[in-house]
Amino acid sequence: MRITHLENAKKILYLYQKKAKNHFGFDAKIELQIDLKGHRLIGQCQKIGLSHYKIRLHQELIERYGLVYLNDVVAHELAHAIVMEQCKGRVKPHGNEFKSVLFILEDGYIAPKQRPKYEIKAKSRKMRQFNYGCRCKNRIHKLSAIRHNRIKRGVYNYTCKYCNGVLYEIPSISK
Ligand SMILES: [Zn+2]
Ligand SMILES: [Zn+2]
Repeated sequence: MRITHLENAKKILYLYQKKAKNHFGFDAKIELQIDLKGHRLIGQCQKIGLSHYKIRLHQELIERYGLVYLNDVVAHELAHAIVMEQCKGRVKPHGNEFKSVLFILEDGYIAPKQRPKYEIKAKSRKMRQFNYGCRCKNRIHKLSAIRHNRIKRGVYNYTCKYCNGVLYEIPSISK
């Protein structure tokens, strides 16, 4: 699996690099690594030597978004490398220089809104909670899925410690 992703990424990078060479005379060395995890970064470009850069990609996002992700993020990170190489860090990371480089790489302007919104699955999803009411005005009790299921199975009833009323489920609006 990982080899295929890397091969795909290399092919896409190669095409962008050709454009970069034609338009900007950019022929710095680029290494690709698929090792990003977690929520902090969806892609990264680092300078690792003289005219030598490393682009890091996100394993899970490649699996979820495939070529859409690769085309989008490889171009973005390569644009960073080109700007770093040409402007030597004197410009804003996503400033005008960056935008005009990306414009060339992507054959036109792509608005942020048109780009996919990447979502990384949360590792430990927060336990779902259920809303319950009682006789108190405006009091909502948050019950765990375990308690909720006990009530559903008719095993238990829970009461409010303030009004002593039996808790009843308030159907939630959002899923
Ligand atoms: Zn960026
Ligand atoms: Zn109550």
